Amino acid sequence: MSIQAKNINKSFNKNDVKIDALLDFTVDIPQGSVFGLLGPNGAGKSTFINILAGLVKKDSGKILVEGIDHDKELKLCKRKVGIVPQELNIDPFFTPYQLLELQAGLYGVQKKDRITKEILKRVGLKDQKNSYARTLSGGMRRRLLIAKALVHNPNIIILDEPTAGVDVELRQNLWSYIRELNQMGKTICLTTHYLEEAEKLCDQILIMNKGKIILNEKKDKILKMISLKKVTFILDQKNYILPEKIKAFNPTVNKNSLKLEYDKNNYQLKDIIEILRLNNIEFS
Ligand code: ADP
Ligand code: MG
Repeated sequence: MSIQAKNINKSFNKNDVKIDALLDFTVDIPQGSVFGLLGPNGAGKSTFINILAGLVKKDSGKILVEGIDHDKELKLCKRKVGIVPQELNIDPFFTPYQLLELQAGLYGVQKKDRITKEILKRVGLKDQKNSYARTLSGGMRRRLLIAKALVHNPNIIILDEPTAGVDVELRQNLWSYIRELNQMGKTICLTTHYLEEAEKLCDQILIMNKGKIILNEKKDKILKMISLKKVTFILDQKNYILPEKIKAFNPTVNKNSLKLEYDKNNYQLKDIIEILRLNNIEFS
């Protein structure tokens, strides 16, 4: 596992009111996966990311990063993780090149081991490497933040709302770049409040709200759950022999009722009604 978090609790005080941002939050993020934390604003996604980043202190719980205890060896854990924050907090008076060099210095990456130019090229900021950050567009700043998270060559990359407020074209670019990083062997964890984003990118999705996990499953299973529709027909008699075609809809018969399930991506209710009609099965 890349990240194992167990029973994480964190509450904040807002005007003397206690807000539980994370409640016994437990998650395992498999190595090599693209793992999505999906939830509405205020769900606790950034709190979890910020705890991992060492920016917010948890109240209780345990975190292991590649098996290393986050409480005991924070510095080592930080080296394994590159965090792309939600806020576009970039010092406007530095250039991308300077910022990456500075970041490499902070992480103790030796001059000879630095790949600043390669990273800038990879995120598509080669031509802007000597421009002041304040002259960069929103999309470029976001890519610069990704670049910053890569300087110490971490195995795990965590992106907090990577495409919030980003236009459609850039979103596609970022998605393909995130996929590329994953193909290079990096474990990716991202937060989003767009189901579409989680659907396009992630192989596992954790849905959370108010600090609690609602669902944590492989993407395919979640999509199936979302697209699976159930319908019950009340038949006019009990003894119909169900046609072969109906068996594809996982039928359960109980007296006069016939319960069926169908994937709304593949079928419409009228298709099923048509099959019943063609087989002279009457229902009310
Ligand atoms: P998300 O990233 O899913 O939108 P957050 O983790 O930012 O959610 O917030 C979870 C909850 O914790 C929210 O109710 C938010 O208002 C609260 N919260 C987060 N950070 C702070 C803070 N520094 N002070 C007070 N409340 C906070
Ligand atoms: Mg957030």
